[in-house]
Amino acid sequence: MIDPGAEPPTVLITDDSLVIRAVVRSYLEAEGYRVVEAVDGSAALEYCQQSPPDVILLDIEMPGLDGYEVLAELKADPLLRDLPVVFLTTLTDMQDVLRGLRGGAHDYLKKPFEPAELVARVAAAAHVKKLQDQLRQRNAELDLLSRTDALTGLHNRRHLEEELARLQSDAVRHDDPLCVLLLDIDHFKRVNDGHGHPAGDAVLSGFAERLRGELREEDVAGRWGGEEFLVVLPRTDLDGALIVANRIRMAVEIRPFLVAGVEIPVTVSGGCALGPVGNVDGLIRLADEGLYAAKEDGRNRIQVAALSRP
Ligand code: GH3
Ligand code: MG
Ligand code: MG
Ligand code: MG
Repeated sequence: MIDPGAEPPTVLITDDSLVIRAVVRSYLEAEGYRVVEAVDGSAALEYCQQSPPDVILLDIEMPGLDGYEVLAELKADPLLRDLPVVFLTTLTDMQDVLRGLRGGAHDYLKKPFEPAELVARVAAAAHVKKLQDQLRQRNAELDLLSRTDALTGLHNRRHLEEELARLQSDAVRHDDPLCVLLLDIDHFKRVNDGHGHPAGDAVLSGFAERLRGELREEDVAGRWGGEEFLVVLPRTDLDGALIVANRIRMAVEIRPFLVAGVEIPVTVSGGCALGPVGNVDGLIRLADEGLYAAKEDGRNRIQVAALSRP
């Protein structure tokens, strides 16, 4: 039943009876499971918080917290609520079984149990856990993918919009400055026209790499669209932002991009705006005005939007 190539699932057996724990352990270990034990409810919760198992076998009648209470605590914890719980019960009354299942138990097993039934129910619970984990991981991968620009590996516009909204409200709350920088590659159409679209793509990737190299961990940079890039600089005033912006600008200008043995000189212009302002769209509009001014003034420069000037 257990995938021989994978890590064996960990089963936490929670029972105040040493005999039950020993019996369950021997049956499950014989099947290849890793078994850990808790002697009561609070020990079980502590164990789960420190290293969540794959399946929890949970006695109902125990001194201290009973099985129902442990289950309720697990369900109240967002990190633990999906762990499958199999109740081990001598309470054969249907009401008790229903109470456990209504409380979110995955399954139950009546003591005394047949070894084969124990193993089958644990295997089913472990399988559910494995599918859940795979789904969660896949969702995380998809989420990351849906926020990443495929060409440059930078964040995409969707992610930038969300992050900017979050960082702007942080800035308002903490009364911190925040700057945005809108960068646009100069005469990029000429790169495409002169060297071909794939070379243009290579320049965009190379630009992204140089951009990344000039930023701090907390800065958020992404591709706003086409040959435009947006950088959000939290807790940064205009002076600081202009230093970063010009560093990026010079990192691009300083040496041509080498694409298939051909040197392609590139420059970039940028508009810088200081926030927080009323809303994030307004902040981007300001940066865009700065960018427009930088283009008008001759490109390869950074300009601050009029309204942003101190
Ligand atoms: P300016 O200095 O005024 O910004 O001039 P520009 O030529 O950079 O601006 P323009 O907006 O006229 O052209 C942008 C070009 O960028 C046109 C478009 O085909 C190209 N472009 C947009 N996205 C991509 C892309 O993903 N790959 C490539 N290779 N080119 C792109
Ligand atoms: Mg008991
Ligand atoms: Mg453009
Ligand atoms: Mg351009």
